[in-house]
Amino acid sequence: MADLKTLEQARELINQCMKCGNCQAVCPLYAETMHEGAVARGKIRLAVDVLEGKLQPSHAVLDKFALCLTCKACEANCPCGVHCVDIILQARAQLAEKVGLPFIKQTIFRGLKLRRLFNLGLKVGANFQAVALKSRREGKGRTMRFPVMGMDMRRVIPDLATTHSRDMFDEYNPAHSGKGKVRAAFFTGCVNNLIYNDTCKAIVEVLRANDVDVIVPKEQHCCGAPVFINGDRNIGRDMARHNLEVFTAADEKYNLDYVFMACGTCVCSFAEHYTHLLHDEPKYLAMAEKLAKKTTDVNPLVIKVGGLQKPLGKVEHVVTYHDSCHLARSMKVTAEPREIMKAIPGIRFVEMKDAARCCGGAGSFSLTHYDLSKQITTKKAENIRSTGATLATTGCPGCRMTIEDGLAQSNVKIDTVHPVALLYESYKNSGVIKG
Ligand code: SF4
Ligand code: SF4
Ligand code: SF4
Repeated sequence: MADLKTLEQARELINQCMKCGNCQAVCPLYAETMHEGAVARGKIRLAVDVLEGKLQPSHAVLDKFALCLTCKACEANCPCGVHCVDIILQARAQLAEKVGLPFIKQTIFRGLKLRRLFNLGLKVGANFQAVALKSRREGKGRTMRFPVMGMDMRRVIPDLATTHSRDMFDEYNPAHSGKGKVRAAFFTGCVNNLIYNDTCKAIVEVLRANDVDVIVPKEQHCCGAPVFINGDRNIGRDMARHNLEVFTAADEKYNLDYVFMACGTCVCSFAEHYTHLLHDEPKYLAMAEKLAKKTTDVNPLVIKVGGLQKPLGKVEHVVTYHDSCHLARSMKVTAEPREIMKAIPGIRFVEMKDAARCCGGAGSFSLTHYDLSKQITTKKAENIRSTGATLATTGCPGCRMTIEDGLAQSNVKIDTVHPVALLYESYKNSGVIKG
């Protein structure tokens, strides 16, 4: 990730682009739109026009930069090593500062910042979800009963958890052996907290079975990625500062070896974004740098602590895996989830076509551009279906939600799980964890 403070500073990166068009061949949005404005090269051209004053800042220009999944496929295929996504994020932030984000985004992000209200609202909402959402006859998930601003009526939404993940644990959850050798703090992220509480339980139990004391800081909040990726750096910085304070306090109290996540985007926030967001605040920069060194995705952590050395019970499934863009291309975590699943007896692992191609979700992109997002997700669903898998796995809860919607829209009845949840099943079947 390049350390850019202004779009002007991105000039050097912009000048590296030799306009070869290699990014076009891999951009999921270009494949759907055949529109140069969708691809990195087109956005770099736009950034030049903004810098040279040929384009005046406006919501229309901001919208053009919003047309990007931040999937980094372009960067991976760029012969000049251009940090295309950094340029795009910088342009979004600078334009948002000048013209403000659209009203709906401003309202959502302001609400997201209010941690207690946000959590309370979603708890109440979970208990009354049947009022606003109806269960689907054809399978899991719900659809909306009436229109809500910013949500497409066709979208299939998973059930909200009535018990949030973070409420399922104490702050300090000792290793099962009582002799913890490693101390790791869990940043759950919002989607895992609000929806996939079974995944969080599986992850915490697998780690505790491997002599890990798991700390779950209660005051943690959304990492802020949806906010700062959309260009609102002020609220993004507030959220980053909050999480840094909470996890620094946990580090001081427990002397942590790791801070871990089960969300590709959350890992990137702690490992990369926070140091850039807070580069000019020495106190928070020091916290961000210290925690970034301890940050890891849960898949490599499970392997590091010996999770595959335990007796493994049979789990009979044909399984495929979708690589989250942020986990795969930013954090380079691709081998470990596969290693975990392939180690479990009874699992037949089948690679899907284009496993590392974006699912189309990209956080709020699927809310603001549902039709375009759905076109991409439909291809992912078809790639999953054609493997013959009985389960689809991914290391990112955001991708999981998108894939569940895509499978439902295509009428494909395949469940989704996190890879470590399969190891949990395996441990239960071998008796490592009492079921
Ligand atoms: S692949 Fe890289 S150098 Fe080529 S057009 Fe795209 S951004 Fe520019
Ligand atoms: S990040 Fe992804 S969607 Fe955005 S320009 Fe690059 S390839 Fe296209
Ligand atoms: S990246 Fe997504 S899941 Fe992770 S904390 Fe932020 S919103 Fe929540």
